[in-house]
Amino acid sequence: MREAGARDKLRKYFLAHLGEVLDSDRLREVAGISEWARRVRELRNEEGYRILTHHDRSELKPGQYILEDPRPQPAFAREISKETRAYVLDRNGFTCQMCGAVAGEPHPYDPTRKTRLHIGHIVDKSMGGTDDPANLRALCSVCNEGAQNMTLDRPSSEKLLIQIRRATGADQIKALEWLIRKFPKQSKEMIDK
Ligand SMILES: [Zn+2]
Repeated sequence: MREAGARDKLRKYFLAHLGEVLDSDRLREVAGISEWARRVRELRNEEGYRILTHHDRSELKPGQYILEDPRPQPAFAREISKETRAYVLDRNGFTCQMCGAVAGEPHPYDPTRKTRLHIGHIVDKSMGGTDDPANLRALCSVCNEGAQNMTLDRPSSEKLLIQIRRATGADQIKALEWLIRKFPKQSKEMIDK
């Protein structure tokens, strides 16, 4: 509780002092805990605030921080480097790994849209998935938004189960993880029975 409080205080302080160079003594005081630097990292890495340090700006000294933009970066735009994105797109043949749409071509289920590819996590980060290339795949914007369900004919449960029974154990676990994530309450009730 106390730690979440420190992060809240730091976020508020940075937002109230946009464009000001803040040094570590001040931030420690604001946070009120010795682990304040970790909370600053969380604001950067988990919440997406572009808090800059001497690693990002040559005019900043070690221990100095500055936030200029109050808008956090969206989750898909951070952490995964350009190199990793390029590697994953190339490995996946610039093809959506869910529906097979190819980058730059009209989307098979929505020909009015040109296919744009994103990098998606195979095992979601909330389920412990990492940013390692092995856990990443190319997804088109349609699949990424989950809009595919509305444009595709829905498969029957019978057909789905046939597919799942034929899949590898690892893929079955992935299906299970996805279902648990989608239906956490129902999953718990079934397990408790
Ligand atoms: Zn797709």
